[in-house]
Order: sequence, then C-alpha cells, then structure tokens
Amino acid sequence: MYKEVEVKLSPDHINDPASLERVIAKTAKLQRPFSHRVLRKSIDARGRTAVYRLRVGVAKDEELPKPPPYRKSYSTGKGRPEVYIVGAGPAGYFAALECLEQGLRPIVLDRGKDVRARRRDLKAIQQDGVVNPHSNYCFGEGGAGTYSDGKLYTRAHKRGSIRKVLHVLVEHGAQEDILQDAHPHIGSNKLPHIIAAMRSTIEACGGEVRFDQHVTDISAEKGRVAGLTLANGETLEVQYLILATGHSARDIYELFSRKQWTLEAKPFALGVRIEHPQVLIDHQQYGSNPRHENLPAASYSLATQVEDTGVFSFCMCPGGLIVPASTAPGELVVNGMSLSRRDSPYANSGFVTEVDEEDWAEFAGQGALAGLAYQKAAEKKIFEAGDGSQKAPAQLIEDFIAGRLSSKLNPTSYIPGVYSAPMHELLPAPVAARLRQGLKQLTKKIKGYTSNAGQVVGIESRTSSPVRIPRDKESLQHQDVAGLYPCGEGAGFAGGILSAAMDGQKVAMKIAEFIKVDS
Ligand SMILES: Cc1cc2nc3c(=O)[nH]c(=O)nc-3n(C[C@H](O)[C@H](O)[C@H](O)COP(=O)(O)OP(=O)(O)OC[C@H]3O[C@@H](n4cnc5c(N)ncnc54)[C@H](O)[C@@H]3O)c2cc1C
Repeated sequence: MYKEVEVKLSPDHINDPASLERVIAKTAKLQRPFSHRVLRKSIDARGRTAVYRLRVGVAKDEELPKPPPYRKSYSTGKGRPEVYIVGAGPAGYFAALECLEQGLRPIVLDRGKDVRARRRDLKAIQQDGVVNPHSNYCFGEGGAGTYSDGKLYTRAHKRGSIRKVLHVLVEHGAQEDILQDAHPHIGSNKLPHIIAAMRSTIEACGGEVRFDQHVTDISAEKGRVAGLTLANGETLEVQYLILATGHSARDIYELFSRKQWTLEAKPFALGVRIEHPQVLIDHQQYGSNPRHENLPAASYSLATQVEDTGVFSFCMCPGGLIVPASTAPGELVVNGMSLSRRDSPYANSGFVTEVDEEDWAEFAGQGALAGLAYQKAAEKKIFEAGDGSQKAPAQLIEDFIAGRLSSKLNPTSYIPGVYSAPMHELLPAPVAARLRQGLKQLTKKIKGYTSNAGQVVGIESRTSSPVRIPRDKESLQHQDVAGLYPCGEGAGFAGGILSAAMDGQKVAMKIAEFIKVDS
C-alpha cells in the first residue's frame, strides 16, 4: 500500500525522526513498520507560532516508489553537431548540459572568468570600488546566478521542468533538500562548487567552456547566423548560436540595434534595496524573538498598487547582504545575496515599482533601447551623487517617506558602505513617489517595516531586462537571423535562475529537434 499524507510538525520536532514517524502513523492510520519519504516541506507562519508542513509518501508492505529519473545519459561521441553558446550563466550552462543530452556538442564562451578567479574581482569591487567590466557580480562563470542568493523559486511552471533543473543541481553537488523545500535556496558559498562541477561535466563529455571570450560581433549571411568576432580579434564560424548573455549585456543590445535586427523595449522594475535587522522580520513573521533555532531566517513578500502600478518587494534575502552589482565604471547598482546559512543579522529585499514607456518617455527617440537608456541614466545619477566609489546613498525609511535627509544611518551589510542622501530626489521622481506611497500603504503589513529601523539603499535597477530580443514562437530562432536563438533573462524570456535554466534547456531541445528535421 502507498499513500501520501500531509502532516504538521512543530520546529521543536522537525529534526526528530521518531516524532515524524509518530505523526505519520497517526495521520495515515498505519501501524509501524512502514517506510516514508518527505516529498515537500514548507513553513506555515500564519498562526501564532510557525509550524512545518510536510507532504510525505508512505509505503507499507511494499517499496517506496522511486522518484522518476530525470537525466538521460550525456553524449560523448565525436562528430556531433556543434552549438555555440554565448554566456555561462544559468541559461548557458543548462543549455550546454541539455545539448549533451540531445547528442550535440556545446562550446560555451563567456567574457568573464571562472568562478574562482572571479572572486578576486568581487573583492576589488567590494573593497576598492573598482568595477571590472568583464568580471563582476553579473559577469563571469555562472553569470548573475553564482554570487547570488541562490533562491530557486519561480512561478514560471509552464516553461519547463523545474524538477529536472533541481535534479541537475543535485547531481552537481546541491543538497537534496532543494528537491523538497517549497522555497529552495542554495547560497553563494555553495553555488561556485556546483557551477564548477557543471563545467567539469560539459568538458568531460567533449564540450568546451572558454573564458575571457568577449563576443563583440555576430555576423549573418543570407539571413542565417554565420560567425562571431571576439574582442581579441579572433573570428569563429558558427551554425547554431544560443545567445544567453543576461540582462546586463548592454553591448549586445547595442549591437543588435546597429545591425537593425529586431529588438523590443520591455517594462521592468526599478527602485531600492530595503534593509532591516533580521530580528525585526523574524519577530513579525514567526511571533517569537529570538526565532526558534530550527526555523530559518524569516522572509516576506509584499505587494501593493499605486495609481494602477505595481509596487512590490523583490528577491528577498533573509540573513543576507546587499552587494554592489554594477557592471561598468561610472554606475552604481545594488542587489542582494546570502550564504547558505542565511545568518547575517540583516534582511534585505528589492523594493521596486514597474516602469514602462510612460516613465522613459524622454528617451523615446532611442526606440527599443529607450528603457535601457532610462535605466543607465538612473544608475549614472546615483553614481554621480557619490564620491566616485561604490559607496551607496541611503536614507532611513521614515525620512524617505517624509522627504527629509537622514541625520544618521543604521549599520548595514553593504561592505563598500553607505552615506546619507536624499533618495527621494535621487530616484526618478515618479518612481520615488510610487515607492513612498507604496510604503505608506504597507505600513500595517509587517509591524515596524516602515519605521526608521530600516533604510533604503540605491539603486536597484537590474531586476530584469529592459529589452527583449524577440524570437519566433515555434522555432525559437530570432525572427531576422535563422540559427540564432536568444535565450534566458537577457532575451527577456526568464526572470531568475530557474526560469533562465529552463529556457536554456528548452532552446537546446529545439535546436536538436531542428537538426533532426533538417538532416
Ligand atoms: C546579486 C544577485 C542576486 C540574485 N539572486 C537571485 C536569486 O536568489 N534567485 C534567482 O532566481 N535569481 C537571482 N538573481 C537573478 C539571476 O541571477 C538571473 O536571473 C540569472 O542569472 C539569469 O541567467 P542568464 O543565464 O539568463 O544570464 P546571466 O546569469 O546574466 O549570465 C549571462 C552571462 O553572459 C556573459 N556575457 C554577457 N555578455 C557577453 C558577451 N558579449 N560575450 C561573452 N559573454 C557575455 C556574462 O559574463 C554572464 O556570465 C540574482 C542576480 C544578482 C545579480
């Protein structure tokens, strides 16, 4: 007999196998012995005290069904069709592994460095304010996903198999918990090892990964992709090209624009990082202070509408750090990350509002690049307000709402440091107005959230791509250039690690399908 049951366990008992068995026996009305497997695990913090909710598969007098296998064997043979992939982020690496599954040979090119070498450049941004335009929090092996929060959550359930992506991560070293957790998280101390293991698989199966390969031109002949040019002058002939360069590859959008290949401006979100003491969030979400030792740092998700426009929290990082995510000198961008233990004393999250062509009307002359021009101008203004380093402007929340400069700031997780600045004036005016109104509306959602216990730090502007590189719905190729497959977040088809990874797999499967049909 096999069945699945939902059980509840207090944080006191969550790590005690005997308590779990007892509650399963009672709920499933079964005598021991039986075998069981936790299928899903979430925290329910709606009541006075938080509890764990588990979905458990239970088998009596038979074996527990095995989870479905997700990986076919990776191909290793010679003479496989080659697929060039530009970008070693989640979209690029998952596309590469899918190519191997599909009998294709992936060659991945990235402008940045491998995960280890990349660390030195992150240190230079954090400690010296020096931004390497090829190696930073967005560029380099693993893309923007490497030194991130590593939250593995998406609403894009129809874009592919979330389970398959999670299984690939587990095969490459992620902890198995991510297969059960309702809101899985890896952490930026563990992600680099997983990404390096993915590279090893690609190379062991005859694929290639090349770093320091900045693609500066793409050529096409008779409407079909033909070649790539690198910054070092090297040229490569290509037949199939997956373009997975992420939302910060501005030179790629500019290249498309120069070539008059179709691009579209796309709404995105812009605002600030908002930072609070983690204890404030724990106390409000779990009702206890300090939180139970078996509960993780608490998170939140907030949303409201101001003048029919969304204002919402984004990419919440419990127990995390605010990091400088600029990709070029002369700009200042912040984002958030956390380590696997999520044990910093700070909670941070993007607090952003949707922006669209109404917001960037003054740049309308730039066509499909208008949103990008608006994003660039906002980042430059924030940078120029400072001292030329990556020190970020900040304001206490009540002061931000009231529109007055803060006389002092709170301690922060942001290593380059913060200085007091009128964020209400430094942000684009309509954005500041919506964020301030949104905060007022959310005052009662989390007690203390809009108090001066928290502060806003700017600017959070790389939430998603301001440009879409459109592709044919059926073939997934760019509509002007056959053989070129725009992919992942940079193409506007993903908004996070999971969705980018699924998009990479989808495009690789499509190429395999095309090659079979074509040959
Ligand atoms: C600090 C931070 C924290 C984040 N936290 C989370 C999180 O917790 N959960 C989540 O789901 N998402 C998170 N994100 C977003 C997530 O990282 C991205 O959505 C995801 O990485 C997009 O994947 P991608 O492969 O499409 O692009 P990217 O990851 O951006 O990768 C693009 C790659 O292309 C390379 N490249 C760009 N231009 C060129 C060129 N011209 N030539 C050669 N190579 C080029 C870059 O070096 C880069 O490696 C975070 C992002 C940041 C910056």
